[in-house]
Amino acid sequence: MRAADLARAVAGALLDLVYPPRCAACGEPAPDGGTFCGICAEAVDPVPAGCGRCGLPGPDAICGGCRRSAPAFDAVRAGGLFGGPLAEAIHALKYGGRPALARPLGRWLAEVVPPAAGALVVSVPLARGRRIERGYDQAALLAGAYARGAPSRPARGRAALARTRETRAQVGLSREERARNVAGAFAATGAVKGRDVVLLDDVVTTGATADAASLALRRAGARSIVVVALARAE
Ligand SMILES: [Zn+2]
Ligand SMILES: [Zn+2]
Repeated sequence: MRAADLARAVAGALLDLVYPPRCAACGEPAPDGGTFCGICAEAVDPVPAGCGRCGLPGPDAICGGCRRSAPAFDAVRAGGLFGGPLAEAIHALKYGGRPALARPLGRWLAEVVPPAAGALVVSVPLARGRRIERGYDQAALLAGAYARGAPSRPARGRAALARTRETRAQVGLSREERARNVAGAFAATGAVKGRDVVLLDDVVTTGATADAASLALRRAGARSIVVVALARAE
């Protein structure tokens, strides 16, 4: 064990003594330092089989939408379906002023959807206005915890992807409006050139934001792009 890893492990053990691990959804004690308590862990629904490209649950190997217009990313993987305890934990992380939840949730995601060896973990950057309002970028925090929690220890591309303009919140917009809202809103740096990128976000819904961000990564030379999210919303 490297000195830095040892220091982190000792710090983590001390933190657990002072603040015993609590379920990220309901706040009850979580056994064995887990992210969720036993009841909430059972209530997280796995993502059903679906489109090999966008992950949309359904019987088709590639869905109609992806056949008509393939997204810029190669695949989507999510920790679970949006709902129940997973939705509660994400809500607390995003809107409840609980940035510390990024650590257990990122670690959980690295167990459920581990990155490929040699991957570069990049997060979808939050719009500046929302970052100032919230005080933190939850996807960036998640990406850090995800990279640290994965046994393959992937690299973290902190400044590899940026927003080039402000966008409206996607909530309440139609599929077409969402795509238009985020089109061309991202730029990536040469750090992604030739890399297998894991693009991390909290929730994937239509994939419009992930697609726009992936297009920027692709243009900057990313070799492959897998979108990884805590939850898949339908
Ligand atoms: Zn719980
Ligand atoms: Zn699809």
